[in-house]
Amino acid sequence: MIQTPFYLIDRAKLARNMAIMDDLRQASGAKVLLALKCFATWGVFDQMRQHMDGTTSSSLYELKLGRTRFGGETHAYSVAWADHEIAEAVGYADKIIFNSIGQLERFDNPSASIARGLRLNPRFSTSGFDLADPARPFSRLGEWDAGKIERVIDKISGFMIHYNCENADFDLFDQQLTRIEAEFGALLHRLTWVSLGGGIHFTGEGYPVARLAARLRTFSERFGVQVYLEPGEAAITNAATLEVTVLDVLNNGKDLAVVDASVEAHMLDLLIYRLSGRIETAGDHRFMICGKSCLAGDVFGEFDFPALLQVGDRLSIADAAGYTMVKKNWFNGVKMPSIVIKEFDGSMTVVREFGYADFEGNLG
Ligand SMILES: *Cc1c(COP(=O)(O)O)cnc(C)c1O
Repeated sequence: MIQTPFYLIDRAKLARNMAIMDDLRQASGAKVLLALKCFATWGVFDQMRQHMDGTTSSSLYELKLGRTRFGGETHAYSVAWADHEIAEAVGYADKIIFNSIGQLERFDNPSASIARGLRLNPRFSTSGFDLADPARPFSRLGEWDAGKIERVIDKISGFMIHYNCENADFDLFDQQLTRIEAEFGALLHRLTWVSLGGGIHFTGEGYPVARLAARLRTFSERFGVQVYLEPGEAAITNAATLEVTVLDVLNNGKDLAVVDASVEAHMLDLLIYRLSGRIETAGDHRFMICGKSCLAGDVFGEFDFPALLQVGDRLSIADAAGYTMVKKNWFNGVKMPSIVIKEFDGSMTVVREFGYADFEGNLG
């Protein structure tokens, strides 16, 4: 048995999402790029690159990882490039996407050798969280003034428009794309590619993939553009778990179980967005599952189990891939979960273990 805690990536579950990628690519003509900010565990890139066209990035380091570990088509985006980064970035990228007209003009010469794009902010989005809403008031994420963009349109060949957030509602996607067509159609006609970003939950249960594909194809033909999507969460949803062991049980008015991992350190997004974790279990015994950091609110959630939990029980916390492994940190010096891959034949490959040296080396 592999020592917990560990993140477990299941290739068979990943394959389900990848099959949908293939269906969508085939039916729509769109290319799909993995958004590395969501998931960058490169031990499974060998599998993903057979079904995705490449990567997109949010920094120089992600860009380099995409170029060297994934390959394929490599898009470079950053909210702001620094002078000392631009030459290296252009060296890795097939396309570079600037967040502002200011950055496009500043780096006009050093980026002239590759395709350039600009981030367009349509000033609406599907995000319910202000924190994650690219169209929030005073947003710095992209340009929105068609008149200003028109003046630099000859410098670019494409737009990146990222405005969806786990949007499982195809009709809403359709309506918002229609709005983009109406408001920015004149500019779209002058481009050769458009990335519609990530946040479309097309690998979710029951999503009408064929309708999405048809809509993307119509958009692509209408403006004569190659469409890209940049799925993060949709690519790896449900493909990984965090495997933990119960270290202690106590009752302080509720039954509590403390496990050998931490929400703050190992599933940080649950805290940031005030969400409960998910454990697939049912029964009559409710326990609050708690992390082992000393943060009072380090709680994965409350779940029902078929029997009273005991020290030594193993639990599997779902949805541990997207925005999870990329955000793990050394808070409290809690042991970092290993990274394990469940192969197609059911065998387990431990690809990385972390130890004291990693903790220490991270601090000085
Ligand atoms: C975050 C992000 C993505 C991926 O979003 P998901 O919701 O994980 O699909 C894609 N493109 C850009 C520009 C992003 O910022």
